[in-house]
Amino acid sequence: MDHYVHRTPRVGLSVLISESWYNPFGDMVCQGCHGKMPFNLPDGSPYFEAAECLDSLEKEQAENHLALCPTCAAKWCHVNPVNDTNLLAKLAEAVLAEILVELAGSPTRLRFTQMHLDDIRIVAGIKSP
Ligand SMILES: [Zn+2]
Repeated sequence: MDHYVHRTPRVGLSVLISESWYNPFGDMVCQGCHGKMPFNLPDGSPYFEAAECLDSLEKEQAENHLALCPTCAAKWCHVNPVNDTNLLAKLAEAVLAEILVELAGSPTRLRFTQMHLDDIRIVAGIKSP
């Protein structure tokens, strides 16, 4: 299955990410706008785009991806002024499992599950606060 992404997704990734991203109603939600994913694939699974979070990691890591709806993924990849230095700082400082970024000119709370945030911190070599 070929999800559109600016940076390439990897096998197994959709399973890893999608398992953590269901709201209490059973809908998979976007980490950017927190809305339900817009449609399902023929196999019944929600369509989402796995966008690489940090650009500067040497190895491709499943944990270093965001599960975004197509609109948020496009904003993340194309209209996202944050650089990795700032992003690393935000990830390190996050007290709640979310960070504030600006996508396409709008403040956006990028939500993580605590497990996902912890995993990104590990793969990025960030010490938790
Ligand atoms: Zn979204």
